[in-house]
Formats: sequence, C-alpha cells, structure tokens
Amino acid sequence: MENNLNWAGNYRYGATELLVPETLEQVQEMVARGSRMRVLGTRHSFNGIADSAESLLSLQKLNQVTELDRVNNTVTVEAGIRYGELCSYLHENGYALHNLASLPHITVAGAIATATHGSGDRNGNLATAVHALEIVRADGETAVFSRDQQDGDFDGAVVGLGGLGAVTKITLDVIPAFQMRQHVYENLPLSQLRERAEAIFSSGYSVSLFTDWTSASMNQVWLKQACTETASSADGAAEAGPDFYGAALATAKLHPVPGHAPDNCSEQLGIPGPWYERMPHFRMDFTPSAGEELQSEYFVPRRHAYEALRAIEQLRERIAPLLYISEVRTIAADKLWMSMCYEQDAVAIHFTWKPYWEAVRQLLPAIEEQLAPFQAKPHWAKLFTMEPDRVKSLYAKLPDFKRLLLQCDPNGKFRNAFLDTYVM
Ligand SMILES: Cc1cc2nc3c(=O)[nH]c(=O)nc-3n(C[C@H](O)[C@H](O)[C@H](O)COP(=O)(O)OP(=O)(O)OC[C@H]3O[C@@H](n4cnc5c(N)ncnc54)[C@H](O)[C@@H]3O)c2cc1C
Repeated sequence: MENNLNWAGNYRYGATELLVPETLEQVQEMVARGSRMRVLGTRHSFNGIADSAESLLSLQKLNQVTELDRVNNTVTVEAGIRYGELCSYLHENGYALHNLASLPHITVAGAIATATHGSGDRNGNLATAVHALEIVRADGETAVFSRDQQDGDFDGAVVGLGGLGAVTKITLDVIPAFQMRQHVYENLPLSQLRERAEAIFSSGYSVSLFTDWTSASMNQVWLKQACTETASSADGAAEAGPDFYGAALATAKLHPVPGHAPDNCSEQLGIPGPWYERMPHFRMDFTPSAGEELQSEYFVPRRHAYEALRAIEQLRERIAPLLYISEVRTIAADKLWMSMCYEQDAVAIHFTWKPYWEAVRQLLPAIEEQLAPFQAKPHWAKLFTMEPDRVKSLYAKLPDFKRLLLQCDPNGKFRNAFLDTYVM
C-alpha cells in the first residue's frame, strides 16, 4: 500500500494491498477471491480496527445516492459516500439527518460500523438512523439486513465493526430539513452539573461541553438549537440570554481549543443556517487531509455524568499537559448490540490529545481506572488500553454478535487482530 497511514498518522496499516472496486460486481468478485480483507473508509479511526492482514477494500468510487424515498422518508446511498456529500444532497431535497459527528469528512459506512455519535439528549448515535444494509458477505453473495425483518439480527449487524462483510448500500431514515443556530458560552462551573446536568444537556438540540481541565469549569458550552426552539431578532440572529448556568455568552466566534483561530469552525453567534452546517463543529469546506492529534473517548451512564467528570478531574494535572481539549456530549440509548449506548442513555467523555502517544498510553490506564466504577466503555474507533476481557464484559449481546459474525463469515475473512482481541 502506497499511503499506509491512518488520518492521524499514528497507525500504520499492515495490509499489503488496497483494492478500489468501481461496481458492486467488482466488490463481490474481489471479496470472493480474497482470503483476508477489511473495508477501509476515510481512515479516521485511531486504532487498528480497519486493518487487515492482507487486503483493504476502498469503496471511495461507490459514493452515489441511489434513492430518495419520499413516502417512507429514507435515503439509500452507496457505502463509500461521506456525510459531507450526502448532507448537501439531502438539504437540497428538503431533508436532514437526525444528527452528525463533529466533522463531516467521514464515510457513512465507517461511522455506523463504530457507533460514531454526535450530541443531544434525545439523539441516538449515527447508526440509529440505519434502516437497512446491503452487505457482500465473505462468499461474495449479497445479504440484506433490514429493520423490517423480524429475525432480530438487524440490531447486531448495524454496528458491525467491519466484521460481517463489505457494506455496499445503506438506507437511512431522514427527517424534514431544518435551520439551526449555535451559541457559545464560556466558563460553566463544573459544580453546575451536580444538580443540573439533565437541564444543561437538554437545553438544545445538541449540546457539547469543552474543557482543558486547567480549572474546575467547562471552558465552553456549544449550544446548537433548531430555529423553532429559539426566538429571533429582526436580523435573524437568535436572542440568547447572557448567562447559561453561570457561563457567559461569547460575543466573538471561538475555537474549542484555547488559542486556536476559529476560521474553520461552524458558524456561531446565533446566525441561522442549514442543519448540516451547524451540527458539526467544523466546516464542510475545511478538509484536513491529516491530523496531528490522538483521540480517546469513554461512555458512562448519563446519570453518573457529574461523578464521572469529578473522577477524571482528580487526574487533571496529568491530563492537561497532554491535552488539546476534552468534549462532553450526550447520546440516547439504542438497541444496537455493539453500540456503546446499548440500552443506556450515555454521556461521552472525549479527549483530543497532543500527538504524544507514549505519554498518553501511560495515562489512559489511570483514566480507565477512575471510570471503572461507572462501567465505562471505550469508543471502538479511538485509543484505549483497557484489557480485552474487560471490554468484552461490557457488552451483554457479545455472544449473539459472535454468532452473527460466524454466520456471515465462518472462516474469518473479515476478522482482524482488533476483532480477534476485543470481540472473539
Ligand atoms: C478528527 C476526527 C473527529 C472525529 N469525531 C468524532 C465524533 O464526533 N464522534 C464520534 O463518535 N467519532 C468521531 N471520530 C471517530 C470516527 O467517527 C470513526 O473513527 C469512524 O469510524 C471513522 O469513519 P471512517 O470512514 O474514517 O472509517 P475507517 O476509520 O476507515 O474505518 C472504521 C471501521 O469501519 C469499517 N468500515 C468502513 N467502511 C466499511 C464498509 N463499507 N463495510 C464494512 N465495514 C466498513 C472499517 O473496516 C473499520 O472497522 C472522529 C475521528 C477524527 C479523526
């Protein structure tokens, strides 16, 4: 493989070839012929989850919208499409997705495979929008998993960790397009989350708290509201109160990382705009080809949000020097077996680290120990040091998922070292 690094440059793929099919038939033929393979999305995962001992398959040339169903409110896409490409199409046609991650440059297939999420107390992760999947299984034959089927395996197939086969088509639920506004507040005292976490996280369509752990407060609150939720002034900008639980309304655009220029951030200051230009934190037209950062993230039951943050705060002197920024978001419970939010409303505590892996690797066990009483689950696509048996113990449906993997791929063509370690 010519470029064998992931987006962050911290992981070198061990695969020896990258195959780029242009049709479904070519995917089927390549899969049937290969002996060990995985599908690669846009390489935004920080660990070896996408790697393969032999071949990687990129579906970058299979990235079209194939159907917009205005009766059932679904859109069907080829699996190589990125959210950025899909969102503008949907908006032009009067539709929206219920939620988005912090950046629009990732593939839909890659995002749902790892239960990628945005924020919102009533929003499930991005995989919860999946209505159906077409998968090319290890033998080269296609199979469809749909929410309309009654066998129950659909909930196991959606967050498939890339192990069931090559997802070639995805049908997603869509909702009517809407306008959003975003306001930023500065310095929310952490103590406010003790009594008011629920009110804070439900105060907008999507709420993110950012902290660098240098003080006992959240540096910023990013409050994203659907325009119907907010009153607007004559110039269209939303009227926002000057105070948010002790945090002060920002009067200039801000980047979440202190000292960074906000140019590449999505519009703030209450200026209305389409849903897909406000839900991500970063602009569609700003596409970093590589990143100089590492990421980790842990999911705990939402009722423990304050205690979990306080537990991490104990380590703040070790965390702060290695950190760009932490982000705290909420995600609604779902039914997807391998989702970090399976049957549990969650709060996700995220760390964007400076690229000092050795030091971060030594710190992660301490963070994981602090969060252990809350049964914290690591994000599948980010960096963690938790023991494999501990990870496995956190997923009640793991035995069913293993059965499904073996059913779709009896000889382990789509398994890799990551799945062998943390799932099998
Ligand atoms: C800057 C940055 C910001 C991020 N922000 C967020 C965020 O806000 N929220 C969040 O939850 N995560 C976030 N992530 C993590 C990211 O969403 C996940 O790593 C996601 O899986 C990346 O998608 P990808 O297209 O790059 O897939 P890859 O990283 O290339 O692959 C991920 C997995 O998907 C599988 N896969 C991909 N395509 C297919 C397919 N067609 N069929 C079968 N399997 C497939 C791969 O085999 C692999 O297992 C972020 C990552 C970065 C680098």
